[in-house]
This record gives sequence, C-alpha cells and structure tokens, in this order.
Amino acid sequence: MFGERVGAALTGAATPVCAYVYDRAALRDRAAAVRAALPPGAVLLYAMKANGHPEVVATLAAATDGLEVASGGELAVARAAGAERIVFGGPGKTDAELRAAVDAGALVNVESAHELRRLALAAQRAATTATAALRVNRAAAGPAGSHRMTGNPTPFGIDETQLADVLALAETLPSVRLRGFHLHAVSNSLDAAGYAEFVADAVAWSVATAGRHGLPLAYVNVGGGLGIDYAGDGRFDLAALRAGLAGVPGALPTGAELVVEPGRFLAAEAGWYAAEVLDLKRTHGRWFAVLRGGTHHFRLPAAWGYSHPFTVLPVERWPYPFARPEVRDVPVDAVGELCTPRDVLTRAQPVARLRVGDVLVFGRAGAYGWDISHHEFLRHPHPEMIIV
Ligand SMILES: *Cc1c(COP(=O)(O)O)cnc(C)c1O
Repeated sequence: MFGERVGAALTGAATPVCAYVYDRAALRDRAAAVRAALPPGAVLLYAMKANGHPEVVATLAAATDGLEVASGGELAVARAAGAERIVFGGPGKTDAELRAAVDAGALVNVESAHELRRLALAAQRAATTATAALRVNRAAAGPAGSHRMTGNPTPFGIDETQLADVLALAETLPSVRLRGFHLHAVSNSLDAAGYAEFVADAVAWSVATAGRHGLPLAYVNVGGGLGIDYAGDGRFDLAALRAGLAGVPGALPTGAELVVEPGRFLAAEAGWYAAEVLDLKRTHGRWFAVLRGGTHHFRLPAAWGYSHPFTVLPVERWPYPFARPEVRDVPVDAVGELCTPRDVLTRAQPVARLRVGDVLVFGRAGAYGWDISHHEFLRHPHPEMIIV
C-alpha cells in the first residue's frame, strides 16, 4: 500500500514515528488521470477542504485549472498557492469573506437570495462587478446509482421552487454577473456511470432552466463527489466516467463551461498516515495495538464508522534491555493514544507479525484526514508533515 518514496520518508522520520506523508507526484498523477476522463474544455478544480496543506494545495493548483474554497482561510491559502482560478462556495459566508472573494476575482457560488444581495453590496462597495453562480437544491432527486445531496432538505443552495424569484432578483443587481449554476450533489460515489448520468442530467437541467429564464448560460459546476472505497476493493472507474460524459460537450451551449471540483479523489491516495506501535496488549480475549497517534490525527474511520486497513512497516530498532512484545497471526485492533474507547482506526485486522516499535501505515489518508480531525483533544504533539 505504499511505495519506496514513502517508506524511505518514514525511515527518516523522528521517533516514535507519527507522521503524515503527502506525495506530490501522486497528486499530479491523480489530477492528470481525472483530466483525461473529462470532456475536452472541461474545467478541473481542486476542492481544497479535502486537504488544505499549503504544499498539497500548491501542487494541485498547478496540476488543475484552479481551486474551490469554502472560507476566507482557504481563500488566503489558495491565493498564496498562486491558483489561476478560484471558486468560492459554502453556506455561511461573512461580509468580510464575500469582500475578499470579490477582491480576489473569485467566482462566488451563491447559496441564498440574502447572500446574493450581500454579494452585490460587497461588489458595489468595491466599485467592481462580482462573478457568480447560483447553487441550486434541485426538486428531483437525480439519477439513481449516485449518493445524493439534492432533492431533499439541506442547508445547501436555493430550493428550485424559489429559483425564479432569485433569478429575477439577480436582474435588479447590476454589480453581480450571473454565469450559471452550481449543482454539487454527490458524495463519495463509486458508481462512475451513475455519476456521468448525474453530470449529463445537471447539464440538461441547466440548459433548460437558463433558457426558460433568459439567462445566457456560461457555467455549469457539478461539484465533486468522486469516491474512494476505503475498506474494500471497489473503485471509481474513470474509463466509465469518460464514456458516460461523451455527449456532454454537445449538450452545452457554445462557450459554456463544464466545471468539476473533486476533493477526495485527487488527494486521498496521495497521503499516508503512519503511527508507531507503543504497546501491544490483550484484554478480554482481544488484541490491541496502541499507537502514537489516533483519531485526533486521522478521524475519518471514526467519523464514518468503518475499519481503515493498514500495512505493517517492520522496524528493527529496539532500544530497551528487555524482550520485545510481539504477536503472530492474530487479528489486532489499531487504537490511538486518546483516553476514549472510540479512538479506533481499525478493528480486527489480521497481522502475520506485529511488534512494539513497528509502524502502522494507513494509506488513502490524503483527504479528509488531518483536516477534519480534533488536533488539540488531549494535547498530544501533532504528527510530522512530510512532503515527498
Ligand atoms: C466538499 C465539496 C466538494 C468536494 O467534494 P469531494 O467529495 O471531496 O469530491 C466540491 N464542491 C463542494 C461545493 C463541496 O462542498
């Protein structure tokens, strides 16, 4: 599950080992693979909430067409990374964030009528014009086979039944230039054909809706949602995506852009979380490997309630004048250093051999790993961040 570059980086890590490793070449490969599956002319952005490490963001800013940000903090990182294009989303934008987005020349995905009015005011005060799209929560649930966030009550976007009013409002606000729609609606889909259907349907809906309201359609952003199968062997099939999107360019008006902004799919497989085994113990018949690390660094398995697989990196160094605890051919729970029974990364993974002092390496940890975790809970030192 990890290559030589990552193994070498971990061999050089401080002990006890506790580190994230991010691989820039892997990030670039991922971006190239996604781009190759998209229709010519499609815009590929990286949704940086998946991993906001400045080196990761800078690498993906250069390997894609730009970044999707969802806060003023992300916007600052995106600007420092030299992103060519920035799209600003998120359901709760402050006036200061809207102003910063306007000053950065970002396209704002507007989430409500009130936000549209505030954006117009921010642009007017900056004596400029803001570029925007309306995020819509569609009436229909969308095609089957993809995991959805639309067609049901959520805090995201404008309900389709209120869209006509918001489009009419936009016409009265000369400081906002409306370019189209934002329809992010899918999360962690492993069904590439279903995802392609969702995209084709989003484009058809955008063309029809824009036509009905006399909006010159220049932009259809379908969001992210390309998935990773953390615990199994499933994968999002880019060849199936490519085949399913073949008709999309023909369905878009000339000059209109299809925008895709994945986060997870670009970053997940370019990151590893590694933690040294501090102790091995058996209680009530179950083996536990206690790590220098845990869910305060890598919360995803606890948040989603699955068991994240690991690979054992054997370490020969043993600094103590007594026997080294070791298990062979048993299932082991990989647990963290926090004082809570919920600090579990993996349940019952069989190991051929595991010793105190070996390192467990968790692959596919580059997205929604460190960035979603509770770093200060118990105040243990943070992991080393190693970029290769
Ligand atoms: C989170 C998010 C994304 C990225 O989603 P992934 O599942 O990581 O691909 C893209 N767009 C918006 C608006 C988001 O909120």
